[in-house]
Amino acid sequence: MYSLARPTTTGLECYQITVSSIRSPELKQHYEAATPYIANRCAEYDTIAESNRFEEAAGKDFEVDSSHGVNMATLYQQQFTQNQRPRNIRENLLLSARHGLCPYCGYGSVTQLDHYLPKESFSATSVHPSNLVPACADCNHAKRAYVPNSNSPALLHPYFDVTFDTRWLTAKLERSEISLPTIYFDVRLEEVNPALEERILAHFKQLNLWKRSASWSGQLLSNYANFLMSDYGRELTSDQVIYDLRAMATRTSRNHVNSWEHATHIAMSKSEWFIENRMEIAEKLR
Ligand SMILES: [Zn+2]
Repeated sequence: MYSLARPTTTGLECYQITVSSIRSPELKQHYEAATPYIANRCAEYDTIAESNRFEEAAGKDFEVDSSHGVNMATLYQQQFTQNQRPRNIRENLLLSARHGLCPYCGYGSVTQLDHYLPKESFSATSVHPSNLVPACADCNHAKRAYVPNSNSPALLHPYFDVTFDTRWLTAKLERSEISLPTIYFDVRLEEVNPALEERILAHFKQLNLWKRSASWSGQLLSNYANFLMSDYGRELTSDQVIYDLRAMATRTSRNHVNSWEHATHIAMSKSEWFIENRMEIAEKLR
């Protein structure tokens, strides 16, 4: 999970560029007539986003009703994703992800754009770049049409949440009944902030990140077991293994501080049980 620079193209600019690609002059006129309304709604989105009050969006009108004579779903599907000029904006949004990794989870490959506020109920921001987040298929699918409101905390927004840049993801390695390690992830903020903690927990729950992180860290443990069983790994002392794990933790936190890999490496290095019994555990994990 990591933050991304907010797109420089405004909602109004993107809407106008998208509309300019419509061929039928009559149809284009309808969309042009709706421009002030769309511009107003995108500005409202920006105000809410900049002050991190996404829970209030559900109570405001972001629907483009039939009186405007336009169809935002069609505009998104047929113009924004198909025509060259808006497609350049789309491509740049997809390319903005660091190393092509999804900012929501920090692990999956970016393949699509997610509407942070779903286009089904917030159609006015369907082509607003600040509402379009590059995402992996798993996050986009798990997020579905999640709408933040007073009962559902807003998920983390890569363009507006600086909280991605302070460390809050921790992990603990525990011995399971069959003497194999199990990794438990947890959220611990440096400063007490119940509202933010609720949002991070909602983010993990909705995007299925507890389960997905556990699966990724299981693969990491298994790979490390292979290393420990190699000629090189067998020769390392406990202190050298701890040093190696800490070095990997440092490397894996360079791209994003709340990386599950970083948390896993630290958890392994801190577990006396794992360090002392590593060869026996590695034999079982391989
Ligand atoms: Zn993802």
